[in-house]
Amino acid sequence: MPDTIPQHILIIGAGEFGLATALSLVSKPAYNSTSITILDSSATLPNPSGSSVDANRIVRADYAYKHYARLALEAQEHWRDQSPEGWGGEGRYHEPGFVLTADAHRDEYLKSSLESVRSLAQECNQSWLDPAKVYALTSRDEIRKASGYQDVSGDHGYANFNSGWANAEACVAYALKRLRKEGGDRVTIRSGTKVARLLFSSDQCTGAELADEEQIKADLTILAAGAWSPSLIDLQGRCLATGQTLAFIDITDEEQASMRDRPTVMNMSNGMFIIPPRENLLKIARHGYGYRNLVKIPKRNLQPGLANGEIIPERYEYRDVSVPRVGVSIPQEAQDALRDALKELVPHMADRPYVRTRICWYCDTPSGDFLITHHPQYKSLFLATGGSGNGFKFFPVIGDRIVDAIENKLEPKLAHEWRWRSDEDLQPLYQPEGFTACEDGSRAGRKGMLLDEEMAKQS
Ligand SMILES: Cc1cc2nc3c(=O)[nH]c(=O)nc-3n(C[C@H](O)[C@H](O)[C@H](O)COP(=O)(O)OP(=O)(O)OC[C@H]3O[C@@H](n4cnc5c(N)ncnc54)[C@H](O)[C@@H]3O)c2cc1C
Repeated sequence: MPDTIPQHILIIGAGEFGLATALSLVSKPAYNSTSITILDSSATLPNPSGSSVDANRIVRADYAYKHYARLALEAQEHWRDQSPEGWGGEGRYHEPGFVLTADAHRDEYLKSSLESVRSLAQECNQSWLDPAKVYALTSRDEIRKASGYQDVSGDHGYANFNSGWANAEACVAYALKRLRKEGGDRVTIRSGTKVARLLFSSDQCTGAELADEEQIKADLTILAAGAWSPSLIDLQGRCLATGQTLAFIDITDEEQASMRDRPTVMNMSNGMFIIPPRENLLKIARHGYGYRNLVKIPKRNLQPGLANGEIIPERYEYRDVSVPRVGVSIPQEAQDALRDALKELVPHMADRPYVRTRICWYCDTPSGDFLITHHPQYKSLFLATGGSGNGFKFFPVIGDRIVDAIENKLEPKLAHEWRWRSDEDLQPLYQPEGFTACEDGSRAGRKGMLLDEEMAKQS
């Protein structure tokens, strides 16, 4: 952080992390004379391929770790504001509950999550947060009753009827609208502007260069490019883009009405989940280890120091980085896995064609903790990324935390979780071939899948 308030802040990425940061900055008098430029490569905003944009995202305080649960509850206070100006207004937030299930042998995450959410419900003493709405499900029958699904899988689990979901695309549109209004002339939002590389002068980040070679200088650059972040700077194994799969089927008006108020159901053993439908579309998705899409990126783009004279041995000139591939349909193995989950949950709908499928990209970190910190090597470069498939619910509160971190005022517990981890810290989470899978305890399914390999198996 420069000693003085930056006069120009550049934010790369108009997803949740970038927009929330900008909203927080414009709310703080200290930044009244700071201009803010937000760049996004997407031609349209909200970006339909960004991970912050989708039919829905789960909003839950159901975390095994209490600091995330506590922050999620704080965010939920905002989600529950249903006034038109509030985060949850105009249908952006719904609260029909969340049911987590697991097979008999897999209960560690469930148990800790249940304990933490229960004890927080008691501690918080919020009238809306009813401990009686959080309870264990000890049999398949109890799961059926709580979820409303007849054929739901899992041997045990718990229900939290204080949790809900948000219409993600509408929330990004809401944040953009607020930013345009609250930021006025100070904020410039540029869509269709792809950053080709960050700019450096010695060890100082000085802004970014666009694909058309336009240079945008800034006193502080915030990298909030979601799953694309590791392709703009070498994060040295601290973030990885992993492709997660989802599919939609059409449902009738009657089905929409009957399923609308059911809770989200997630089976922690296979990662499959179903969120209540919207506009006659039912989404089935998998929260897993995901696919990597490896692309060779010139090392000098990722490690700017190397551009300043250091000689790069030829064999190290490129680095394999997993980069989001968007606009492609999901591989056969995912089509089959999602179909199997439909057969379990809603067998009478299981044969319906997918009207749309999508690979949506998580920016995973080895532990599932966000990466919100100053870059340890380059001055004036701040990292706000690593959402790890669970960042969305924090939209209303993450911006203030990011700005606290920029100002080195973030509460120590969160600063510790979101730090640049040392190589020693990361070592236990690495597989021999490097960091290939987030080990936050919530993932299921196969590890180590490569998108190209799975695509090649297409029938
Ligand atoms: C399938 C799926 C399901 C999820 N489910 C949940 C859930 O239920 N609950 C929950 O809390 N969280 C969930 N998440 C996680 C949550 O959505 C993300 O953590 C969050 O949206 C990340 O926001 P972001 O701003 O980091 O990334 P993004 O929203 O992807 O924004 C990054 C932006 O950066 C832009 N960008 C990238 N590269 C460049 C460049 N070179 N130049 C300019 N712009 C660039 C992109 O165009 C993009 O718009 C889910 C994520 C996915 C993918």
